[in-house]
Amino acid sequence: MKKQLFLLLAMGSAVFASCGGGKPASSQEGFDYTVEKFADLEILRYQVKGFESLPLRQKELIYYLSQAALEGRDILFDQNGKYNLRIRRMLEAVYSHYTGDRTDSNFVNMETYLKRVWFSNGIHHHYASDKFVPGFTEDFLRKALESTDASQLPLKEGQSLDEFCAEIFPVIFDPSVMPKRVNQAAGEDLILTSASNYYEGVTQKEAEDFYNRMKNPSDSCPVMFGMNSRLVKEDGKIQEKVWKVGGLYSPAIERIVSWLEKAAGVAENEHQKAVIEKLIQFYKDGDLKTFDDYCILWVKDLAPRVDFVNGFTESYGDPLGLKASWESIVNFKDLEATKRTETISANAQWFEDHSPVDARFKKEEVKGVSAKVITAAILGGDLYPSTAIGINLPNSNWIRSHYGSKSVTIGNLTDAYNKAAHGNGFAEEFAYSEAEVALMDKYGDLTGDLHTDLHECLGHGSGKLLPGVDQDALRAYGSTIEEARADLFGLYYVADPKLVELGLVPDGEAYKAEYYSYMMNGLMTQLVRIEPGNSVEEAHMRNRQLIARWALENGKSENVVEMVKKDGKTYVRVNDYEKLRGLFGRLLAEIQRIKSEGDYAAARDLVEKYAVKVDPALHQEVLERYKKLDLAPYKGFVNPVYTLVKDKEGRITDVAISYTEGYAEQMLRYSKDYSALPDINE
Ligand code: ZN
Repeated sequence: MKKQLFLLLAMGSAVFASCGGGKPASSQEGFDYTVEKFADLEILRYQVKGFESLPLRQKELIYYLSQAALEGRDILFDQNGKYNLRIRRMLEAVYSHYTGDRTDSNFVNMETYLKRVWFSNGIHHHYASDKFVPGFTEDFLRKALESTDASQLPLKEGQSLDEFCAEIFPVIFDPSVMPKRVNQAAGEDLILTSASNYYEGVTQKEAEDFYNRMKNPSDSCPVMFGMNSRLVKEDGKIQEKVWKVGGLYSPAIERIVSWLEKAAGVAENEHQKAVIEKLIQFYKDGDLKTFDDYCILWVKDLAPRVDFVNGFTESYGDPLGLKASWESIVNFKDLEATKRTETISANAQWFEDHSPVDARFKKEEVKGVSAKVITAAILGGDLYPSTAIGINLPNSNWIRSHYGSKSVTIGNLTDAYNKAAHGNGFAEEFAYSEAEVALMDKYGDLTGDLHTDLHECLGHGSGKLLPGVDQDALRAYGSTIEEARADLFGLYYVADPKLVELGLVPDGEAYKAEYYSYMMNGLMTQLVRIEPGNSVEEAHMRNRQLIARWALENGKSENVVEMVKKDGKTYVRVNDYEKLRGLFGRLLAEIQRIKSEGDYAAARDLVEKYAVKVDPALHQEVLERYKKLDLAPYKGFVNPVYTLVKDKEGRITDVAISYTEGYAEQMLRYSKDYSALPDINE
């Protein structure tokens, strides 16, 4: 599970950063955090502080793991939609070889479209999952293709350009073809109406039946069925095509394996070597039991400085929440900042025991909550360029309850967001008064980080399912409920006097910054991420609106929170922070009950009532106010570039890091150097 950037943090927390004193933050310490802006996106770069001073062996380990992290990019493109690789390659060919007027609006709009495709790893918005509307004409693209050397184009064997256009153009230009990557609309066949490439020729019912048949209710250690395969119907027979060496995506997986083999050779200790070797074994045999063995080894691997995620991990891209998208991050521990999360996890049992949920749903013994602040060294697959700021893995419920989980907060990415957004006027526009702005200015950075830590280290790891409850019982509502559970745990405890006692917050006022920004975000400002007329789709956004709306509604009789008008503009006003905490506690208890009992109907009712619908008038207002600030609602990162430094004998003497690569430059290089998959993967 991952925690995405809290919207306010993404855009406004700059205001809350205590550093800066008027200097443009992007040039602080001589590091330029900003790269470029287009569409609704801003590209940043992050600094890998401390890399230079790592021992050579750790640098080498990071280097090999970072190569393995980049080799999976094409897998994600293909998972996100079966035409994505061909469309990307076609557009890259035009972009690289076009000899016409590159300032013409058709070309400029095609360039923007391509940049968005790179950003989303496909033709659908990375967050909203709607298909992009191209700002260039079919006629322009056809002519551009005609003047491109056919050998550069992803034509099928024997396919003419006309046939190619007939096949591909509707996917780009016809709004009714593959309109959504992940459709969550209740009542529709979620598989047939989703463009993601996890199922072929099967209905939702067929897929659900297929996996339900695999489940054995008495198995207390079930593998995550379906996680690493595409489910297809061929010749009337439903079967899985497994992603492994020799299976689907083999050319990319073989390369990942070869880099992992090099990494194993420079692992920090024998345990870490065994972790990497187990992952290699899983990539080779595709057996989900091997994957569980790998997860168990990985979660116990706590000693090394360097760590990584590499593989099929999160299931947000599958409407049924089974199939895992490929992602990778390589990182090393930030020793200083980790002291904060160590304090939290050292007290995990206290937090579990004192939470407001029913005792039947609590863990008697919270195991192995390991938490650290990490410095990201490379981002790949579903963590690139858009990324998480916190990650908690593994996702298997029984492994989590037997062996615990590893929870990380990615310090250098949060830092880059903060610095790049410094002084952008967001809080001044949307916060009710100067008092709230000052509150968030004073504490927002700290409490934002703490909320992330609590969400990851404790929230996801807390609670338990009642015996016999299916971990997928909440089906399409499962992700939203799980994120709400983790967020509420964080919200409830960020206000606890225990945090003052532990020295994690300076005083009993600090939590109000998080409460205010959370409510403002959930009730209003996250709407800037949604196109007019659409509803809330993404699990983290749904969870935030669910919590904020529920608290607004259920606190109405006591006027805990209200929406007020001032000079014609709408604001969120929190009248009673203590009562708001009480509401968060009540909702946490209910959400935990739903999860523990697998109460699908209650999950559906809560999500549909509070999390999905958007007030069109308020939405319109928020969009207009936001537009005036000229900010990008989504951000992502270019990676640094690592190069092996060798002496005359060819021995590695160092690994150099540089930060000069541009966005298009990096994407084109990745498409050239890390692109082992064929155009069509069947
Ligand atoms: Zn989460």
